[in-house]
This record gives sequence, C-alpha cells and structure tokens, in this order.
Amino acid sequence: MTQSKRALVTGVTGQDGAYLSQFLLNKGYEVHGLLRRSASAEVVDARLKWLGVAADIVLHDGNLTDLSGLLRILEAVQPAEVYNLAAQSFVKSSWQQPLLTGAVTGLGAANMLEAIRIACPQTCYYQASSSEMFGLVQEPRQSEKTPFYPRSPYAAAKLYAHWMTVNYRESFGLHASSGILFNHESPLRGIEFVTRKITDGVARIKLGLENKLVLGNLDVKRDWGHARDYVEAMWLMLQQDVPDDYVVATGRTVSVREFCELAFAQVGLNMNDYVVTDPRYMRPAEVDVLLGDPGKAKERLGWVAKTSLEELVAEMVDADLKRLKTQQHL
Ligand code: NDP
Ligand code: GDP
Repeated sequence: MTQSKRALVTGVTGQDGAYLSQFLLNKGYEVHGLLRRSASAEVVDARLKWLGVAADIVLHDGNLTDLSGLLRILEAVQPAEVYNLAAQSFVKSSWQQPLLTGAVTGLGAANMLEAIRIACPQTCYYQASSSEMFGLVQEPRQSEKTPFYPRSPYAAAKLYAHWMTVNYRESFGLHASSGILFNHESPLRGIEFVTRKITDGVARIKLGLENKLVLGNLDVKRDWGHARDYVEAMWLMLQQDVPDDYVVATGRTVSVREFCELAFAQVGLNMNDYVVTDPRYMRPAEVDVLLGDPGKAKERLGWVAKTSLEELVAEMVDADLKRLKTQQHL
C-alpha cells in the first residue's frame, strides 16, 4: 500500500486554507493544519465545517510568530509540502497594526523558512505572495517581471516574505515557490473584504434586513478570481521539479462599482437605490488598479482560471442568501 503524502497548511482556518485542505484531501493527502489558539474555539473552524472537511484534518496548536513551536511541529509531522497561507491578511487593518502585520505576515514566513531549513530541508514550500506587492503599478499588466511598489504595511510585509522565499531558494537550495496571487474570493471570503461585504449586503437588502450598503472607493479595479481555482495553482507549483514564482490571475479587471452592479442584478435590484459611500472606508494610500498576466502559469503549470466573475458573484450572493435564511454564520 502506498503511503499518502503529508502536507502542513498554515492559515488552515482561512478562506484558502479551507479550499486547499479540501483539494489536498481529495488528492489523498494526509492534511495537517496550524491552528492559533483562540478563545472562540467553537467557531474558528467554521470554514472547514462548511466544506465538510474539519474532521479530516490533524490540527496542531501553534503560531507563525513562534519559531520553537513551528520546529516541533515540523519535526513531528515531517511534511512533504508546506503551504504558508497564514497572515494578517486585511490591507486596511495593516495601517492600524503595522508592526503586528510585519511580525506575522513578514517575519512569520521567515520563521517557517528557517524552521524548514533546520528541521526538514527536503520539504517543498509554498509562500502566499500577493498582487498587493505591485501596489502603484509600474506596468498596465503585471507579470513576474513587473517591478514591485508596495502601498501598505501589508504589502511591504508580503514583499519581505516574498524575497525571503526567493533568498532561501537561492541560498540554501530549498524547494521554495511563491504564488503572486491576485484577489480571489468565494462564499468563504472574510466579511470585511469588499466582495463579501457586497454580496452579504445585497442578500440582507433583498431579505429586508437592511436598506443600504455603505462602501468606500467604488472606482478601484481588481482582477478577481475564485479561491477554489487558485488553490490548485498552489499545489501545481509544488509538483514542479524546479521551484519558481508565478502570477496567478484571471487577466480581467473590473471596478468595485461593476462588481456591485452584478451582485445587485443577481437579485433583480439596482445598486444606485442602495449604495452610499463613506470616507470611513477609504484608505490612506490606494491601489487603484490591478490586472494580472497569468501567461507563465498557463504555459508552465497548465493552469487557467475556470470560474468567470459572473459565476463567482452568483455563487457568493446565493450562498449569502442561503446563510441568512438559515441563520448560519460565517
Ligand atoms: P484569511 O484571512 O482568510 O486567512 C488567514 C489565516 O491566517 C487564518 O487561518 C488565520 O487564523 C491565520 N493566522 C493569522 N495570524 C496568524 C498567526 N499569527 N499564526 C498562525 N496563523 C495565523 O486569508 P486568505 O485565506 O484569503 O488568504 C490566504 C493567504 O493568501 C494570506 O497569506 C493572504 O495574505 C494571501 N493572499 C490572499 C489573497 C486573496 O485574495 N484572498 C490574494 C493574495 C494573497 P484565524 O482563523 O485564527 O484568524
Ligand atoms: P484588497 O485588495 O486586499 O485590499 O481587498 P479588499 O476587498 O479589502 O479591497 C479591495 C478594494 O475595494 C480596495 O481598493 C478598497 O479600497 C475597495 N473598497 C471600496 N469600498 C470598500 C469597503 O467598504 N471595504 C473594503 N474592504 N474595501 C473597499
């Protein structure tokens, strides 16, 4: 009997952690997850429960900021693959908590790379890099060759983690790859992010629970894909003989306003009757437009985004309607 491959996923309770765990379990992996201690332990695995995989994952108490804990877990698990998805991932909060964001999102990745270098240097490593690193974009379509220009403490921390990944690959020969992922969403997206805030708001308005939706800058544009598609790209990167960095995107960019129009149209309403803007949701520095060039991922990994924006919006609105009707919380 062949032994199943073992993977360790940090950020396992987040959006991508849940979809990636489901994907790896379907491939026959033994999936281990890093779980940070919470006083609300009963809700922390809500996304894993939503996908029906919570009981199939081996959870380990730990924190990305605690190198000794990471070392102990790696020594015990000896994973073939580590997916480092854990982060303080909300850009807006990173201006309120810049040092924490640096410690978790930046140094946390260095902790994991260091732990791998010491405990299991043969392990393949995936770093969750971000299109936010392009920030004030230097080219109209951003590829692996586009220079970075981070515009937030989050993006600066991600850039440090990104270069540490490249550095450990080049210095110590680790099989370390970075996925520069553009925004990806799903019904499991955190409620503070604009897409989920919109689909939840649309569902509430449709059900008569709210009468308006308060947003910030409606003109910014993002290249939005589906998280379920994007976790496959992460896995494909670790199956390559040679580690490398890849942009993962759809190649289409639309504004927050257009996303709103689609979401309201999904329930037969017009956004102009409900959306208001408030400077409270504006940012000290904005990333006006992101548009990825996923050519390398297509050519080398055979990966393309499968879900259209229209399908994504429909799935998210439907899930939020269902959740509110059945009083489930996520
Ligand atoms: P989420 O915010 O949904 O998940 C973040 C995860 O990190 C959660 O499981 C959280 O745990 C965990 N975490 C936070 N701090 C720590 C810590 N100190 N130690 C251990 N775990 C911690 O993010 P996503 O799933 O959306 O994103 C996954 C990764 O990809 C992140 O690194 C994100 O920055 C990056 N990324 C995401 C993009 C996107 O569009 N979604 C785009 C590009 C990059 P808890 O549940 O306890 O809060
Ligand atoms: P980000 O791209 O990782 O920062 O993801 P977000 O979903 O948080 O934000 C995407 C874009 O939507 C940013 O440019 C925000 O300024 C913009 N935006 C407009 N209104 C809102 C809002 O009410 N909440 C959030 N989170 N973003 C908003």
